[in-house]
Amino acid sequence: MSVYRMLKLLSDAHSVSGRENSIREIISEVVGAYCDDIRTDKLGNIICRMGSGEPRIMLAAHMDEIGLIVKHIEENGFLRFAKMGGWFDQVLLSQRVIVHGRRKVLGVIGCKPPHVMKDEERKVSVKHEDMFIDVGAKSDKDVKKLGIDVGTPITLDRELRRLSGSRITGKAMDDRAGLACCISVLRKLYEEDVNASVYVVGTVQEEVGLKGAKTSAYSISPDVALAVDVSIAGDHPGITKKDSPIELGKGPAITVVDGSGRGLITHPRVLKWLKSTAKRYKIPVQMDVSEGGTTDATAIHLTKEGVPAGVVSVPARYIHTPVEVVDLNDIKNTIELLSKAVLDIDEWFMDEEDLLPV
Ligand code: ZN
Repeated sequence: MSVYRMLKLLSDAHSVSGRENSIREIISEVVGAYCDDIRTDKLGNIICRMGSGEPRIMLAAHMDEIGLIVKHIEENGFLRFAKMGGWFDQVLLSQRVIVHGRRKVLGVIGCKPPHVMKDEERKVSVKHEDMFIDVGAKSDKDVKKLGIDVGTPITLDRELRRLSGSRITGKAMDDRAGLACCISVLRKLYEEDVNASVYVVGTVQEEVGLKGAKTSAYSISPDVALAVDVSIAGDHPGITKKDSPIELGKGPAITVVDGSGRGLITHPRVLKWLKSTAKRYKIPVQMDVSEGGTTDATAIHLTKEGVPAGVVSVPARYIHTPVEVVDLNDIKNTIELLSKAVLDIDEWFMDEEDLLPV
């Protein structure tokens, strides 16, 4: 299966935080043949292990996507919703959604038409609490018949498509791009001699508080860990290089610090390992220092007595919208960097002293 087809399979599936079943099933089907062991933990993380040597390396990518949840059903059949994860309200208006009732039910997000808005109302963006979902039902009874109730998850209806060149657009590139990379790494390593134990983890509930990373890292107790996610590209109108110097098509981003250091300060040995690997194999990379946002690595590195951790990410535009854009060449280079880093790992993490940050 090509990387694009795998991404399409993952991106077109629906998996809001806390309801990651469909992505979990895809992962277990696709990587089953390449792993020595696959298990699901109590929170729903899928943990795929290849090999049983030392050191233990964890590659984590989150399975959940930001979505919505039914909060209230109006008597006339309209749904009110709450947000699950970091939505910018104005992105939601006029989107087509899938309400995951007994079956998938299509809906649209509406609001009061501009024609009847007062002048002041027209000047400000509509808040999500003033929007509603129309599934075509005429009453709350109609809605219930569709198996939709308070608590029913909702996702955006947007399929992965190609833009021109090597760019693609879809919902949930955050973090299906990371998952596609991790899956591809397993498939690539299957043909190689790997001394380490590689744990690829599809984590749950990252978008709502890095939760799955916490429990999965505890049980794996890795010697080193990488979160594989997306990072904010600063190469389009409305954002400048001083906001983010990361560009699409220039290779994966290696995080030095995120969340102004309140998230992750990448372990120096991990940073050296990733940078040296990129240099040795001539893989283009970009260094990333960010002040907002963080990843699963933040939860993982605080596990037990501490885990040296880092982040490798695919540059993405319009993160947390249904039209996230990534470049397939960045995905290929991310897969290359991760695979080579795993293959060379015994040069970096075999000695306890290697792990002391100097
Ligand atoms: Zn993410």
